[in-house]
Amino acid sequence: MEIIKSENLKHVYKTASGEKLALDEINFSINDGEFVAIIGTNGSGKSTLAKHFNALLKPTAGKIFVNGLDTSDEKNLWAIRENVGMVFQNPDNEIVAAIVEDDIAFGLENLGIEPSEIRRRVDLALDTVNMTNYKNFAPSKLSGGQKQRIAIAGAVAMQTKIIVFDEPTAMLDPQGRLEVLNTIKKLHAQGLTIILITHFMEEAATADKIFVMEGGKIIKSGTPHEIFSNVKEIKRLGLDVPVTVELAARLKMPTGILTAKEFIAALKNL
Ligand code: ADP
Ligand code: MG
Repeated sequence: MEIIKSENLKHVYKTASGEKLALDEINFSINDGEFVAIIGTNGSGKSTLAKHFNALLKPTAGKIFVNGLDTSDEKNLWAIRENVGMVFQNPDNEIVAAIVEDDIAFGLENLGIEPSEIRRRVDLALDTVNMTNYKNFAPSKLSGGQKQRIAIAGAVAMQTKIIVFDEPTAMLDPQGRLEVLNTIKKLHAQGLTIILITHFMEEAATADKIFVMEGGKIIKSGTPHEIFSNVKEIKRLGLDVPVTVELAARLKMPTGILTAKEFIAALKNL
């Protein structure tokens, strides 16, 4: 079933120097429980699109429906925010409290939820992101990957059906990236709808579906196998391909290789 749908969604920013078209009448849909990765070069419109998923921005024209709710209708605002969590690039901008568990509880306290229910949800969220042992730590003592997982726990505790991640691993080291990606995969396995904006093609390759953005449009969408089957086209857009795809192309293996397993199988046939 469809959980997000856009109809000719358009976004124009008004600036001092004029207007900037950031989303150019895009149409797409995302199913309940789907894991969608969004890739595209800088300025292609990814973050603008992300901000439409929870009505941080309103369409200049066209529409986007989240869980059936029109984001341009003011009275849907809170219902939409209850459905969509957001995680951004820099966890330092999102962590507000001096103790990890207080930070996760923050959003729930603002909603006036019962203390016993807050306790239950915070413990569950800590467990989900594998950070239970750090609940009494100061966030400033944590690694980047750990901080980002605390930011994710904050979204998990809100029990939204959808979480949008806008380059959550861009500032992390390889270990932190892996921790965050594994957390995202776990949330997907639990049934959440995941939207992951990323520059890391290995991360995009683990999604159910990929949207490729360019100049405010979704110029291509498909499974990771479909998207990465045409190496030249992806590179022409200024994007990379996963290392397995790159090696397979250089070794002139048949197209359609993406996973390490497929790569090894093809290697044996060389
Ligand atoms: P991405 O996340 O893919 O890098 P963005 O959605 O941030 O792309 O930006 C899309 C386009 O809109 C870019 O040309 C960018 O410069 C422009 N843009 C983004 N935010 C603003 C803003 N607040 N005001 C004016 N232009 C903006
Ligand atoms: Mg961006």
